[in-house]
Amino acid sequence: MSSSPLPEYLVHDMFTEAGTRLEGRLPRAAMARLSAEAVVADQAARVRVALRAFRDDQGRQRLSGAVSASITLRCQRCLQPYEQALDAEVALQLVASEHEAESLAPEFDPLVMATGKLPLVAVVEDELLLAMPAIARHPEGGCATPDNPAEAQDEPDERAKNPFAVLERMKCPSDTDQDDT
Ligand SMILES: [Zn+2]
Repeated sequence: MSSSPLPEYLVHDMFTEAGTRLEGRLPRAAMARLSAEAVVADQAARVRVALRAFRDDQGRQRLSGAVSASITLRCQRCLQPYEQALDAEVALQLVASEHEAESLAPEFDPLVMATGKLPLVAVVEDELLLAMPAIARHPEGGCATPDNPAEAQDEPDERAKNPFAVLERMKCPSDTDQDDT
C-alpha cells in the first residue's frame, strides 16, 4: 500500500465517485493557530490525516475520516503541562457558499469552498481546533497535587488510571528484558 504525499489543496477533482484518499502526516508547525495553544513549541510534532474525499450516491461532495494529533497544554487545575490527545471525526460536505450551508443535512458540517480550492492544512487545523478541550486539564485524578488531597480522593479508581494512556496507542512492545543483577 503506497501512500502518496498529501496535496496542498483540496480541489473539486478529488470528489469523485471512486474518491480520493488523503492519508499521511502534516507538520503541526504549519498550523499557527493550533501551535499557539501549545505550551511547548514541539517543532517535530506531526498531525495524522486519514481522510477521503468523494462524491456520494446523492451527488454530495464529502470529506470524511479522522485527523489526530497530540499537543502539550497547561492543566488548569494543577498548572502543569500535560499531553492532550486531539482526535477529530471528520464529516464535512463541500458547499459553495454560506447560503448553501444552511440547507445541509444535520449530520454534515459545511465546508465552504468558494474559490475552487481549499488549503488542506487549514481544513485539518480547523477540525483539530474544534477537538480542543473547553478546559485544558489532566484526566480525572491525573494531577500531581499532594497539597490538595481533596482533589484526588473523590474517585479512587480513577487514580489508578494511567494519565498517559494516549501513549499506549503507539503500541510499543515491552520486550526490553533488562536484567539488573
Ligand atoms: Zn493537572
